[in-house]
Amino acid sequence: MQSTAIALRSSGRLIALVPTMGCLHEGHASLIDIAKTKADKVIVSIFVNPAQFGPNEDFDKYPRALEADLELCRAHGVDYVFNPSAEAMYPADYSNFVDEKVLSKGLCGVSRPNHFRGVATICLKLFNITRPDVAIFGQKDAQQLALIKKMVLDFNLPLEVLAGPTFRDPDLLATSSRNQYLSPSQRADALWIPQALQQAQELVDAGVRQVDRITAEITHVLTQSRRIRVIYVQVVDRDTMQPVREIIRGRHLATVAVWVEDTRLIDNIEL
Ligand code: AMP
Repeated sequence: MQSTAIALRSSGRLIALVPTMGCLHEGHASLIDIAKTKADKVIVSIFVNPAQFGPNEDFDKYPRALEADLELCRAHGVDYVFNPSAEAMYPADYSNFVDEKVLSKGLCGVSRPNHFRGVATICLKLFNITRPDVAIFGQKDAQQLALIKKMVLDFNLPLEVLAGPTFRDPDLLATSSRNQYLSPSQRADALWIPQALQQAQELVDAGVRQVDRITAEITHVLTQSRRIRVIYVQVVDRDTMQPVREIIRGRHLATVAVWVEDTRLIDNIEL
């Protein structure tokens, strides 16, 4: 993959990378479609990265669907799929990790302590292997997006990071590979998530700027379901991921993570 990418670059081609963990859906496809408009060649990586899963998380049961993924990639005009083995990415003597110290520590970083270390490490490796001019990430994983933008800045990586908007199913639940874990009735409960974010947006549209009121409203809506356990509800700056107290429109995100019984879901909205 690295030789191919180097050859593409030396022949003047612009490369776009869309990193994924596979089990591709329309959210991923929307990022691929953006990538197609930004470069001559689109590479999709498919790698369920063990380094970003905690010991009691869903690495083993994470859905894998390579044939369907390749079909989706073909249909969207992807030029290369990079699907390495775990052993190729992390040989037995592997010993380097990227540990961002600030914006990866809050939000999901609290309940998933090594998650972003795994994410930053795999993205750095993927960037070095696929040599992209541009990499596309989803706004749905807002903390991951901010982390990767900061890593590119701090390490002077020669690529641009672009964000794709969150793709939602018709019922407004953010499309996610993990939605497969939900039974129909759990899915109905999960719909309180976009509902809560929508309510927050309406408060801001009505002129509310105090973050406490907004987070209280989100929490109130989420707890309409007895099956939802809130992990966090926070309003943060979109670049630094630090909590804020007063809303500035266009800069701040309302972010949530919840358990719907055994399924962990995240979502966010730009206020
Ligand atoms: P994943 O395969 O879940 O690790 O996601 C790979 C990339 O797709 C990440 O940049 C995600 O933010 C992005 N992504 C996942 N779900 C969505 C969605 N519903 N809309 C837009 N991007 C998404």
